[in-house]
Amino acid sequence: MVDAITQVPTPSNEPVREYVPGSRDRKALDAACATLAEERLEIPAFVDGQAVKGEKTTAVTMPHDHQHVLAEVHHASAATVQRAIDGALRAAPAWQRMSFDDRAGIFLRAAELLAGPWRMRINAACMLGQSKTAHQAEIDSACELIDFLRFNVHFARQLHQIQPQSSAQTWNQTDYRPLEGFVLAVTPFNFLAIAGNLPTAPALMGNVVLWKPAMTSMLGAWHVLELLREAGLPDGVIQLVPGDGPVQGEACLASPHLAGIHFTGSTGTFRKLWKGVAERLETYRSFPRIVGETGGKDFILVHPSADAQQVATAIVRGGYEYQGQKCSAASRVYLPKSLYEPVRDRVRAELEQVVVGDVRDPKAFMSAVIDEAAFTKITGYQELAKREGEVLFGGTADRTKGWFVDPTFVRVDDPKHRLMSEEIFGPVVTSYVYDDGGWDDILDVVDTTGPYALTGAVFSHDRQAVAQARQHLRHAAGNFYINDKPTGAVVGQQPFGGGRGSGTNDKAGAPWNLLRWISPRSIKENLLPPTDWRYPFLER
Ligand code: NAD
Repeated sequence: MVDAITQVPTPSNEPVREYVPGSRDRKALDAACATLAEERLEIPAFVDGQAVKGEKTTAVTMPHDHQHVLAEVHHASAATVQRAIDGALRAAPAWQRMSFDDRAGIFLRAAELLAGPWRMRINAACMLGQSKTAHQAEIDSACELIDFLRFNVHFARQLHQIQPQSSAQTWNQTDYRPLEGFVLAVTPFNFLAIAGNLPTAPALMGNVVLWKPAMTSMLGAWHVLELLREAGLPDGVIQLVPGDGPVQGEACLASPHLAGIHFTGSTGTFRKLWKGVAERLETYRSFPRIVGETGGKDFILVHPSADAQQVATAIVRGGYEYQGQKCSAASRVYLPKSLYEPVRDRVRAELEQVVVGDVRDPKAFMSAVIDEAAFTKITGYQELAKREGEVLFGGTADRTKGWFVDPTFVRVDDPKHRLMSEEIFGPVVTSYVYDDGGWDDILDVVDTTGPYALTGAVFSHDRQAVAQARQHLRHAAGNFYINDKPTGAVVGQQPFGGGRGSGTNDKAGAPWNLLRWISPRSIKENLLPPTDWRYPFLER
């Protein structure tokens, strides 16, 4: 114990390293990739501080070299999940008795380990397992995860300082209790930072967590768990229950102790989980908190006053980086007739230079999509584009060695076409051309196309048009960009999340998210309790 009102370190965003070929960082990263590529890890469930193997295993392969197995992952059976729930409930009292500073110290240490000695290992796992280039891995598994860990501590401390007023003879306090029970964190394949944040944010607030990562991200997820354990995370606080989802999800939903779900993934999976909770509502001790960040169909809306080169760069970076597999990726573009040709020609010229290849090749700007299912789905959209639209660039794919889909730029004539409204989650960007005079109408089209409202960008040098778009599209995107690509949100700068079909918009890495993992208790202490039951208004 210490008697002190401590101040947590002031966070700042982790600087992004460049990995210039030949540099010390690049050599260290290459060496880490070589080490991981030679290993063939066996990844168990991790329950109550113990490795638990299962009857079923799945091979994790490199998406850009799909015959290369990186790890064999053991699925957690329903019985293993139940063991984890029991373990979590046993671990909870000690974790909750630990002071906030002690809990925070673990996550701050994890951030420092990741910023220093663990950086290359985690980045290499993200590169090989999830097919991210060095830059994409660095901004995700290193910088963003470090930022989540540091900023959450800072925001949690700020929340703790929100305390009620006290009146005469009274001392009022708010106790920021964790939820009663356990939190289920279900994480997607595409960001290791999200995979790390979803279990650690509730844990920081004192909760115990079962973590179910996407199978295709298991190599990175395993190394993140090792990092947290190295930082001092006690057994039972975050337990790993790998698998395809339904088995682990069902086992958690069936427990009366389910206190919350922290989800990121597709809208369909989130709806299933929410319905599963609703169906069992009477069985829970508390109303489970449900937080989900889900799909997107993110737009770039271009005003006639915009700069064609800026727009083209935003399309190439925003639409194709990480193979378009960011929930925030630009996927539908609205171009005025006067800018269509200049933008199209610039996009084509830039995509001509883009190299698609192995993530270890420093020339590669893009690599493979995550797995065969994604490859099949995305190439299906390429075929649709060939049938019903005009393919302006790309439209090709090659599955021989890896799940490679070439950057594809499309034009359609129907602004409500499936290519303009469905989440493709791959390197396919579709454009629609409107008349320069049709700005007011196109704002409506952007707002009403598709079920999502995650990110969006407006490009314009006309301030009036910017103001109009910002107002008209107020609910069309939870993250709205002006003259910038709609990807690349930074923790502490652009809190991330969207509404409508894109999720509950609780903004990961922000105080609003942390609020979902606490159940405040109001405490009133009377310092001088009354001794006479009669009030003054009563006639004596
Ligand atoms: P997904 O929905 O297929 O899987 C997400 C997670 O849910 C995985 O761990 C999966 O195993 C698990 N799962 C699947 N079925 C389940 C079930 N019945 N019960 C419990 N768990 C189950 O999504 P994905 O392909 O991993 O990720 C891509 C999706 O995530 C895209 O739609 C993307 O837009 C979205 N995403 C959103 C954000 C955001 O912040 N809004 C961020 C990243 C990704």
